Amino acid sequence: MSNVTVIDPRRGLRPKPAPDAEVLAHLKALQEKAAGRDAQGVVEMALSGEFAGKTAVVSSFGAESAVLLKLVAEVDPNTPILFLNTGKLFGETLRYRDRLQDMLGLGDVRSLSPSLADRNRHDPEGTLWSKDADACCDFRKTVPLARALEPFKAQITGRKRFQTRERSSMEPVEFFDGRYRFNPLWNWDLHQLEAFAERHKLPKHPLVEDGYPSIGCIPCTRRVQAGEDYRAGRWSGLDKDECGIHLTDGGGI
Ligand code: SF4
Repeated sequence: MSNVTVIDPRRGLRPKPAPDAEVLAHLKALQEKAAGRDAQGVVEMALSGEFAGKTAVVSSFGAESAVLLKLVAEVDPNTPILFLNTGKLFGETLRYRDRLQDMLGLGDVRSLSPSLADRNRHDPEGTLWSKDADACCDFRKTVPLARALEPFKAQITGRKRFQTRERSSMEPVEFFDGRYRFNPLWNWDLHQLEAFAERHKLPKHPLVEDGYPSIGCIPCTRRVQAGEDYRAGRWSGLDKDECGIHLTDGGGI
């Protein structure tokens, strides 16, 4: 018998209405505008006009995060940066966050954690990841992020089309869970990311050199062998390649 913990990620939060015709028309206009811009131009769109002061960045401070954070810092270094500190992260990631924060002059990095009540209720032993990774991601990532995003009209992500099958048809602007979602790096590849990082002398996440091209929580990340997909080390052995915070089901367009 399955021992699955079911957690409602929207627990205690206002339900988001489905996008109406007006939102869909506006989304189409934003997509057309963004498609003609480079990454910096999409960031500028997300942080100005109707979105000024109403947009947050979601960053894992992982292997490729520095590129997006640099682009955002160039436009407004005081943009809120939402960082999910699950309690299961590598120490290297926490130190990398601090290093990038100082180097880029990020003035509003917000560390999000699951509440103590949720930890005690869902994962008192800290081993839920080994029994039900979706439930663990729900209470450690999805719930804290959904709460932190409540006041914002839009978010910026560092997602790229090449990363997963699910992201391969992603647009530069989407509408997800009641807000607009800008993906400035949507059509970048690894070569472009590396070239940008080199040009701007951005430090690499220390674990990249150690064989981790994609970095998440300690229990759910392993080194990648030569010839493997670069995200093969994430939730290895499980039929899972997203933590749930970016999934486009449930209203994502
Ligand atoms: S990545 Fe693993 S440890 Fe981290 S929240 Fe998800 S299941 Fe839990």
